Amino acid sequence: MSDSSADSGSEAVDVLIVGAGPTGMWLACELALQGVRTRILERRTEPTVHSRAMTLHPRTLEVLDMRGVVDRFLEQTPRIPSGHFANLPVRLDFSVLETRHAYTAFISQARTEALLETRVQELEVPLLRGHEVLDVEQTSDAVAVRVRTQERQYRVTASYIVGCDGGNSIVRKAIGVEFPGTDATVTGILGDVRLARPPQRPMSVSNSAGSLLLAPLSDGLWRFAGQSASRMTLSKDVPLTLDELRATVTEILGDDLGLFDPFWLSRFGDTNRLAARYRVGRAFLAGDAAHVHFPAGGVGLNVGVQDAMNLGWKLALATRGYGDQALLDSYHSERHPVGAELCRQSRAQVRLFEWTPNALALRDTFSQLLQVPAANRLLAEHVTGIEVDYSTKDSSQHDAVVGSRIPDLALDSGGRLFEQLHSGRFVLIDGIGAAASLSGWADRVRIVNATLLDAPAAWVGAALVLCRPDGHLAWLGDRSTRIDDLRAVLQSWCGISAEQRRNRG
Ligand SMILES: Cc1cc2nc3c(=O)[nH]c(=O)nc-3n(C[C@H](O)[C@H](O)[C@H](O)COP(=O)(O)OP(=O)(O)OC[C@H]3O[C@@H](n4cnc5c(N)ncnc54)[C@H](O)[C@@H]3O)c2cc1C
Repeated sequence: MSDSSADSGSEAVDVLIVGAGPTGMWLACELALQGVRTRILERRTEPTVHSRAMTLHPRTLEVLDMRGVVDRFLEQTPRIPSGHFANLPVRLDFSVLETRHAYTAFISQARTEALLETRVQELEVPLLRGHEVLDVEQTSDAVAVRVRTQERQYRVTASYIVGCDGGNSIVRKAIGVEFPGTDATVTGILGDVRLARPPQRPMSVSNSAGSLLLAPLSDGLWRFAGQSASRMTLSKDVPLTLDELRATVTEILGDDLGLFDPFWLSRFGDTNRLAARYRVGRAFLAGDAAHVHFPAGGVGLNVGVQDAMNLGWKLALATRGYGDQALLDSYHSERHPVGAELCRQSRAQVRLFEWTPNALALRDTFSQLLQVPAANRLLAEHVTGIEVDYSTKDSSQHDAVVGSRIPDLALDSGGRLFEQLHSGRFVLIDGIGAAASLSGWADRVRIVNATLLDAPAAWVGAALVLCRPDGHLAWLGDRSTRIDDLRAVLQSWCGISAEQRRNRG
């Protein structure tokens, strides 16, 4: 294999994304929407046909809604008004959440990735399959990446790199980020098979033999996912056989349902690790590259897409010369706590997946607690991502809500707020015509002359609302807001105006 120093692509690249999983593809779309020259490098030569994840949760559906693509993901996708925590018999009630998408979309990861790849193509982002990243180096003004294809090795440079390359992230290792946590101590099993005697409906069973979720996939396949009380300490590297799956299903359900013809048999562990830093200089980590955990509750893919949503607009501003270091640092300060909470809640669920008499008693107690609406809601808000809030809550009334999640409010002029976010720009809802003379931020801020209906109580008195591209609150202004105040706010969030830039030459 020859080692060439030439870039394999002809065009300059602003951001290299390593990994075409859900996180990498959504990030690429976010960047492309802002005109950032992006390229995805993916080791695999073909998309995977096996689906780890089966869920899109409310906040991820809101993210997709904000870009006008959610309907594609919902077409022919079952919607379940609940979710689960540790597969407890009392399910989490999502229907109480204040969102248009108060349900789990039951969609395979393969289909999610196929739909994301379609959007990547629509936005004309080069996705180079069979391009494995071997190493990353960075200087103060660029990153250089060594890539291997079947034919050769080459080097490519860019302004920034994002490791969306999964739990074994080469980017994370290359930039020297520690990944503290614990190795797997228990494993679960996953089997996509056909059933001679399928049940009437999806099932969720837990007893002293273990726990199993069973749900229909497409093409006549059924998914078993769960833990066997007697075999959950087997290593992830021990292949799952059809006989073992049959034995586990029989032990837990009392019947193997005539399972046959496996499409995929796999074992997964409870490794729990969180990257110490999400940013080092020009390199960032997102998705499983930043956090790995037992996949209880079906959350990992969702959090990865939400990481990408947080990073995309910040990196786009920086690439275009508008974002400062503090904005880039805020990716870590906002998303690292979310990853930490994800890892913590996942550990709690692993503890509930034990089958000793003591653990079964704990499961009963937890199930009783989940019948209390406030407790149920607390966990539902966590699992769905609806709880994510970047506000500091330690300042004056309006400042205290800056960073909070924006719901999809209706506008008095018609339509919904999320529809205004389709272009990925900031949205300034201006109920008093204060921004009429402001045109210098049009490439970054969409101004909408309207008032939001049913705004949260904490926004009382707000006549101007600045929404971040990721659907979090940037700023609230009241009727006394002066044009200079507004300019200062836009400049602090989005950089200088186009006129100022021209004047500076
Ligand atoms: C059994 C199981 C069930 C799960 N169920 C759910 C669920 O229901 N809901 C949910 O939200 N999550 C679930 N998850 C988690 C979910 O699958 C992951 O969180 C998700 O795939 C992470 O996406 P990602 O894009 O960050 O990483 P990945 O999907 O891991 O993608 C990383 C990509 O990077 C590529 N890559 C790696 N190294 C390199 C390299 N050196 N060069 C180039 N490319 C590289 C890989 O080939 C891969 O395509 C489950 C996980 C498991 C194991």
